Amino acid sequence: MYLATMTFEEAFPAIEDIRIEYREYDSAGHPSYNRPSVSTKENIFLEIGCSNRVCHEGGFALLPIIRKMYPMKETTFQRTITCRGYEGSKKVGRRCWHYLELSITVRYKEAASQ
Ligand SMILES: [Zn+2]
Repeated sequence: MYLATMTFEEAFPAIEDIRIEYREYDSAGHPSYNRPSVSTKENIFLEIGCSNRVCHEGGFALLPIIRKMYPMKETTFQRTITCRGYEGSKKVGRRCWHYLELSITVRYKEAASQ
């Protein structure tokens, strides 16, 4: 899933700069941290863990979103995404309702420099 053998630069050469702001909330709508976290091209996070201690296989994947934005040269993505995990065992577990307020801003290089 992660860019195991590629750097972000190699995977998305046309991206000049990217800024990702996110804040996680629990099912009651309480933020998990005081202020939004920021990730940029230099310290990019493409996979954000879920802080729910009883959540299994949870987390938030940003790579598929960027992969979708990239060919369309989309510059902004602002949405709430829910955790993909579940609480309890997989058979009887219920969905984890932690969610992420996510804002991605992308700046692309000039066409000539690609
Ligand atoms: Zn979760």
